[in-house]
Amino acid sequence: MHIFEKRWSTALSADKKEYTQFVMRQDETVESFLQFDPERGIALQHTNGSLAGIPFGVKDNLAVDSYQLTCGSKILSGFTSPYTATAVQKLIDNGAVVVGKTNLDQFGMGSSTDTSAFKKTNNPWDTERVAGGSSGGSAAAVAAGLVPFALGTDTGGSVRQPASFCGIYGLKPTYGVVSRYGLTAYASSLDVVGVLSKTVDQSRIVFNLMKGQDERDNTSIMHPGSSNGGAVKRIGVLTAQKGVLHPDVEKSYAEAVGRLQQNGYTTREIDIETMKYVVPVYYTIATAEASANLARYTGIRYGYAAQDAKSSSDLMEESRNEGFGDEIKLRILLGTYVLRSGFQDQYYHRAQKIRTAIRNEFSRLFNEVDVILMPVFPTPPFKHGDSELTPFQQKVADKYTCAANLTGFPAISIPSSVENGLPVGVQLIAPPFEEERLFAVARVCEKDFPSPDSPLYKTSWS
Ligand code: GLN
Repeated sequence: MHIFEKRWSTALSADKKEYTQFVMRQDETVESFLQFDPERGIALQHTNGSLAGIPFGVKDNLAVDSYQLTCGSKILSGFTSPYTATAVQKLIDNGAVVVGKTNLDQFGMGSSTDTSAFKKTNNPWDTERVAGGSSGGSAAAVAAGLVPFALGTDTGGSVRQPASFCGIYGLKPTYGVVSRYGLTAYASSLDVVGVLSKTVDQSRIVFNLMKGQDERDNTSIMHPGSSNGGAVKRIGVLTAQKGVLHPDVEKSYAEAVGRLQQNGYTTREIDIETMKYVVPVYYTIATAEASANLARYTGIRYGYAAQDAKSSSDLMEESRNEGFGDEIKLRILLGTYVLRSGFQDQYYHRAQKIRTAIRNEFSRLFNEVDVILMPVFPTPPFKHGDSELTPFQQKVADKYTCAANLTGFPAISIPSSVENGLPVGVQLIAPPFEEERLFAVARVCEKDFPSPDSPLYKTSWS
């Protein structure tokens, strides 16, 4: 069987009108797209290939020629990209068609997609709840059946966490194996382009088409392939500390472990000593890099420009003040704080040293186990607003996902169960370049528990 249901290959040709109307109708509820404009995507497509005619969504911090590129922020509202990101171009070159740009937390900063300056994306399982973030638009679009897959980006969990909240697969590849050319930088040493999809094989195929060294991104590297053909026997299971996980997540995690054992894997409980440093180290490094990367938005060359400024410095100050949302300002302040002169050893350099220690601990563990299982997020999808999880608590909750970004190792979020009507996912992490191990285990789990259809998911356009 083809990895995409047949209807996807005719969605933009034979069924074009029905498909377009279907997406527009469904998205009134979900609000996953910032721009839905399949005609632009059709105009970019000029080849046939293994993804011929398959529609996909692209997170709006990835450049696609002639589409807007807002990063979910007012500071870039109205900006149209003059070029296409390498990862997206490779899919277009294989026949896939971009149908629109999906909503996100401003510049990828957040875990809810609620920090978008334009709209709130709703979880297709319960529209009062967030779809997760920051690639929430991409996750919700896939879970609502608007596209079979979508691209996201993952700096500290932004592909895996929304995938888990929406009941689909979310792959964060090894750092560097997919080009970052055309990805608007948040934290350059952590940013990775990833895939959200309804099945494991869809993520695998898309990843294999996207990967490869790119002369336009000097941190990109050639993927050498798996060292052991993707074989997995031993799985390290991070001990779930009592009281840290929401009961639904704890139950789902235990079920996932049971499923792995039933399928013949040897599991072993592990402790990761450096886990307690992951969040502070992540937020030190991510905000430091973000404060430098966001310095380019001045209101002078492109993007939002404040009206009636009296001088160029006023223009810069007012444009940034009016254009950036509160979360972005917080991060820039934190970033400049940790980088200020005289204090770099205390914060930034120290964080870099601990980052190395975290990476070393994971590498050591991978001498004993082939992959590591851990939760994705400690809670099920939470309600919009601060009532269930404050922005600070959301940051603390990034603990399980950030580790894979700090180490650069590949990770995947896979659906584990549905608890009280909401999906819960679990995460697998592998050594660098061992995405095949993630797919192998995910496929085994998928046989017992495939991605569950959200209440909004439909298998026809009517
Ligand atoms: N929630 C994390 C943050 O806000 C991760 C975001 C991401 O991966 N882009 O930084």
